Amino acid sequence: MEVEILELTDLAMKFILRGVKPYFANALRRAMMTEVPKLAIDEVNVYENTSPLFDEILALRLALIPLRAENIDEFVFPEDCECKGEGCGFCQVSFTLTAQSPEEVGQRVVYSNELVSSDERVRPYPNIPIVKLISREVRIDGIKTVSRQSLMIEAIARLGVGKKHAKWQPVTACGYKNMPIVEIDEEKCDACGKCVEECPKRILEVSLGTVTVKDEKLCSLCKLCESVCDRNAIKVLYDKQSFVFNVESDGSYDVWEIVLRAVKALKEKYMKLKTEIAEVAERTKALA
Ligand code: SF4
Ligand code: SF4
Ligand SMILES: [Zn+2]
Repeated sequence: MEVEILELTDLAMKFILRGVKPYFANALRRAMMTEVPKLAIDEVNVYENTSPLFDEILALRLALIPLRAENIDEFVFPEDCECKGEGCGFCQVSFTLTAQSPEEVGQRVVYSNELVSSDERVRPYPNIPIVKLISREVRIDGIKTVSRQSLMIEAIARLGVGKKHAKWQPVTACGYKNMPIVEIDEEKCDACGKCVEECPKRILEVSLGTVTVKDEKLCSLCKLCESVCDRNAIKVLYDKQSFVFNVESDGSYDVWEIVLRAVKALKEKYMKLKTEIAEVAERTKALA
């Protein structure tokens, strides 16, 4: 197996995985989406909400705010915790949010960084808008006054995995395609340029009386070039054992960490399966 990293930032990663079977590539993709544990808001106590959003919509928005925890490995799933899921510092973190619209007529947006964490090592991803609070002019008994909207909530975050609910999925995008191979038959190609015009990825160009491919990796395998070539001079194929991965983190981890944690989760599952198969084989042997 070979890994070639093409692009890497904190939140996005593109890499080529060579020398693996399709089921392995798919298992890795699924592990990134469903097996990497992260914290997400799972329960919301609303003490006051005069904002334009219903409590349920507010809770939904809060659940989708990525939470970044420096001490993520110290948390356990509520069902595995010694508190038996009742809630303690090992299985949950709480956040409070108190906000009000302006004193004067106007409005303001409440952002995720206004959530105050009970554990300073767990922080919400900043600058995600939650709700807009509006102050309006109203008349009470003929007297002008300002009606303000306010919010007072407590939110509880717990550890979970994407296979339980999408709010625990640490990736916003996670996909792959087979490594494309674009072959040009120079004997047949008359450099008419039709395929160059048709290619939506703009990776083909006419040069020195034939067509060349600028960057095969960018090909979407749409085969439009093949369909417009009257001379059957271009063929789009793919490598069955190489995959171009595109992964984006939601911000709860650096993206490379998601890939590594997914590999670790897969390894643990394979080891468990191996042990269980060995145990079954032992038992079967003993019975024979
Ligand atoms: S359409 Fe066919 S013949 Fe024309 S440039 Fe492309 S490959 Fe060559
Ligand atoms: S398959 Fe599509 S993206 Fe790839 S080279 Fe042909 S037209 Fe371009
Ligand atoms: Zn607990």
